[in-house]
Amino acid sequence: MTTDMDIALNAELDSIIDIAAGLGLESQDIIPYGWTKAKVPVDVLDKAAETTSDGHLILVTAMSPTPAGEGKTTTSIGLADGLNELARSKPDVGQAVLALREPSMGPVFGMKGGAAGGGYAQVVPMEDINLHFTGDFAAIAAANNLAATMLDNHIHHGNELDVDPRRIHIRRVVDLNDRALRGVVIGLGGLNGGVPREDAFDIVVASEVMAVFCLSTSLTDLKQRLGRIVLAHNRSREPITVNDIGAAGALTALLRSALAPNLVQSLEHSPAFIHGGPFANIAHGCNSLLATKAALSLGDWTVTEAGFGADLGAEKFLGIKCRTAGIWPSAVVVVATLRALKYHGGISVADVQTPNTEAVIEGMSNLEHHCGNLLNIYGLTPVVCFNRFPTDTDEEMTAAIEHLRSKGISAVESTHWADGGKGALALAEAVVEAAGGAEKAGSGARYSYELDRPLEEKIRTIAQRIYGAADVDLPTKVTRKLKQFTDEGYGDAPICVAKTQYSLSTDGSLRGAPKDHIIEVKDVRLSAGAGFVVVIAGDIMTMPGLPKEPSALTIDVTEDGNITGLF
Ligand code: ADP
Ligand code: MG
Repeated sequence: MTTDMDIALNAELDSIIDIAAGLGLESQDIIPYGWTKAKVPVDVLDKAAETTSDGHLILVTAMSPTPAGEGKTTTSIGLADGLNELARSKPDVGQAVLALREPSMGPVFGMKGGAAGGGYAQVVPMEDINLHFTGDFAAIAAANNLAATMLDNHIHHGNELDVDPRRIHIRRVVDLNDRALRGVVIGLGGLNGGVPREDAFDIVVASEVMAVFCLSTSLTDLKQRLGRIVLAHNRSREPITVNDIGAAGALTALLRSALAPNLVQSLEHSPAFIHGGPFANIAHGCNSLLATKAALSLGDWTVTEAGFGADLGAEKFLGIKCRTAGIWPSAVVVVATLRALKYHGGISVADVQTPNTEAVIEGMSNLEHHCGNLLNIYGLTPVVCFNRFPTDTDEEMTAAIEHLRSKGISAVESTHWADGGKGALALAEAVVEAAGGAEKAGSGARYSYELDRPLEEKIRTIAQRIYGAADVDLPTKVTRKLKQFTDEGYGDAPICVAKTQYSLSTDGSLRGAPKDHIIEVKDVRLSAGAGFVVVIAGDIMTMPGLPKEPSALTIDVTEDGNITGLF
């Protein structure tokens, strides 16, 4: 069998200087990291943005997924290659550019593998993109850990700010799945070992520094946001920020080079900005704003992905990122698979490959709910993309597409995984048509809630409008904290919900489009630097573990230096 790695290693890559030239960038405009990767400095991008108008923004999201993932990244890459393929016969279409997240090494060595697409829809060099890449995550980890160590150092040297060691929120991070670090005791080793206290580690992508990095528009904005991060509270319960311990400058210095978006290419040489990778639950789950803006100003089409299904990914992309940046998509691709439809139609994960047209139609309730939200709440045109898997049958596929079309929803089958951009031509055409229609209608941005409403009301609105819940359950502890955030001046912040991606409800086993469910909010947290309030409605893991047979067992390097076993 040909693996993703085989396909990627056999690809002929263009020099990154040529990829940049295709975007109108001179060789001195970029900072090459070897021949196939480069960073594009923020001032170069600012200059480009001044002289060009933004292209069309296309968001790729999905129905509620199965644990295997339905192929948002793969479909984003396929769509960009499909649009560029379409432009070969219709030059008016213009150029498509990708804006994607950087993979975290936790999943690479764990269960999920890499996040650089699959089959003939990949970004390359995938072995680099999946492992360290240009070092951004190391810089983010160092910046986060510097804030943590400066806080502990402050306590060690007399604790002038009266930091309450029981109310420290900043945790150290590492970009690996390491369950042994979920709970630790630090500061052991006697008088010179600092002040002992219980602590915990998170994975890098779960840090607020990562969320801040991805929402910053400039170095100055980055420094201001970092400065606002609340590290702890003191004994009078006042917030202690990065600014209070004097760390904002040093953190920004560590992130200075990393803030420039990374440029690579797809197997078919579509330009791809891959930059930043915040967790999709406790953060907003999409690549850096700077990368999205780079793609918007340098290309005619920007294809970008938001983590998880549309209830989480699209909701946060639109309500947090687009609102912050003043951008708005022209169309939204909702990735669906026959296996996810069968899963929502009541079939167990083990049996979703068995043909079953009835279950496919039964599972439509979930997909239609997401499409209905996009259309009715946000005024966005959904294009359903059936990401074709090798085991799918024509009979199921035809029934699925006809079902949606009879409801007036645009739906196409796409074979980019097997065929590359040529397999995504129908998808590209459907996206161009949807975007054209939306732009003619000129409806503009529409949000699911307004920022000036009280925090509690905003949470309820999301639960009822997006998840179809009857109500939210907010314990007293939560309402008290919401009041505190409001008193501290954060009442106008957008909401970032952390809940299971497998269901529209907070119960991962409720499939389809559950009705009359209650969203139980367990806790709320303020991310003052990122500028949102995190609503925790379920168990969230900020430090994953490795499975019994992690993919690290199969990853190796050959004698001639090639990596094997990545997928
Ligand atoms: P997501 O971004 O939604 O998490 P990915 O695009 O990363 O999903 O895909 C998840 C996994 O499924 C990857 O290993 C990818 O190679 C594989 N995959 C995606 N689409 C297909 C397909 N059409 N056929 C077979 N495998 C696929
Ligand atoms: Mg993905």
